[in-house]
Amino acid sequence: MTDLTRLTAAAVAEKIAVGEVSAVEVTEAHLARIEAVDEKVNAFLHVDREGALDQARAVDAKRARGDRLGPLAGVPLALKDVFTTRGMPTTCGSKILQGWLPPYDATVTRRLKDADVVILGKTNMDEFAMGSSTENSAYGPTRNPWDLTRVPGGSGGGSAASLASYQAPLAIGTDTGGSIRQPAAVTGTVGVKPTYGGVSRYGLVAFSSSLDQGGPCARTVLDAALLHEVIAGHDPLDSTSVDAPVPPVVEAARRGDVAGLRVGVVREFAGEGYQPGVMRRFTESVELLRELGAQVVELSCPSFDLGLAAYYLIAPSEVSSNLARFDAMRYGLRAGDDGARSAEEVTALSRAAGFGPEAKRRIMLGTYALSSGYYDAYYGSAQKVRTLITRDFARAFEQVDVLVSPTTPTTAFPIGERADDPVAMYLADVCTLPINLAGNAAMSLPCGLAPEDGLPVGLQIVAPAMADDRLYRVGAAVETAFTARWGHPLLDEAPAL
Ligand code: GLN
Repeated sequence: MTDLTRLTAAAVAEKIAVGEVSAVEVTEAHLARIEAVDEKVNAFLHVDREGALDQARAVDAKRARGDRLGPLAGVPLALKDVFTTRGMPTTCGSKILQGWLPPYDATVTRRLKDADVVILGKTNMDEFAMGSSTENSAYGPTRNPWDLTRVPGGSGGGSAASLASYQAPLAIGTDTGGSIRQPAAVTGTVGVKPTYGGVSRYGLVAFSSSLDQGGPCARTVLDAALLHEVIAGHDPLDSTSVDAPVPPVVEAARRGDVAGLRVGVVREFAGEGYQPGVMRRFTESVELLRELGAQVVELSCPSFDLGLAAYYLIAPSEVSSNLARFDAMRYGLRAGDDGARSAEEVTALSRAAGFGPEAKRRIMLGTYALSSGYYDAYYGSAQKVRTLITRDFARAFEQVDVLVSPTTPTTAFPIGERADDPVAMYLADVCTLPINLAGNAAMSLPCGLAPEDGLPVGLQIVAPAMADDRLYRVGAAVETAFTARWGHPLLDEAPAL
């Protein structure tokens, strides 16, 4: 019998639609897989067994009635624990929100439910999405299914690991500086950061509001496109939501060709700190694009070198403001409330007990960068750099249709290796965060295993704002060609657990 957990989302949906399997059977197979392996992986913070089975039963009932089913009806999904889910715990990987039951659904959650996608539960993440390894979770690290001693990337390590360990065929992540793409790269999965404003942030607990973007995670490009289409689109509840048609991502993923397309290789994304095996797979990918008929040019985006510094002023500045709402009065943890202490003292004690070290570091950094006398020197300068980076992209996209680079300079690193070195941790996102600063769209997809360690390498594709369909067009072409050549990293030679 087919192992239902090994199928793509598209195949699962098809089997349910034709009645070959029921949505309940599919859900049960994934719940059993979670039961069997998640003790080792720690991808889930919360599994909603009953809720998932109820949703699956509703899909089966719809089918029995002859109702039309959506393209992902009955397909299980793992949701990053940064999206509110009505009545289901939402912690953002933080102790400060332990036990919080949101009174409402995020727009992404709502759209998934409306599309009859079955939400299995909530996935582990770095606290408030700050990190590149999922080691900053208050609930213990997630482990990389390819090698349990290594990180699955972050902050969305739980979502990526759930895909790579066959606990779910679909997942949702959020990407502020790389947290969808970097975990995708190091787990051999596909992750897309849509154009800023393409997917609603309503009910996405804010980290850095001008950078945060929810997006799809899957094992194939087509599955990511199908999920993208479900969650994207204008939302009046988010003032930064783009009021324009969703780019034709599914059509592009089905088309998958690059003939005549102009592809730019960014010179700045190479050199010191890039693992040789990563660069080798990247160079081969560029070669492949050329063979497939793309026109490849090298170009320079000189301001990208300043991206990391600008990001680590802008993101913490927004954090210092966004995390101010956790005051122990309205949500979550309250410490030291003995009746004698003032509200200010209780807030201070609760924040000291509830936030982990990285959240505290960023709150301090951001508060400092925004303080009077330093604002212009730090925050103001970072915003100017942000403009320069946006202009670099604009200039590049006058010459080419998409840009490509490695997603991350190295493969998955060992758990603990960068835990005490924030800058080494931050460098994992050096290729991804310029895209967030400019608001463009980008995808990471597997481009082979690094020869020195046998671990997955990610290829990043970048498109101009609202041209997300180009990612899928190029991504699908690369995926098809690589699969023909080497097999698919997750559909053929699965990591054994
Ligand atoms: N690793 C980056 C950070 O720590 C990006 C995180 C993200 O995209 N959420 O800020």
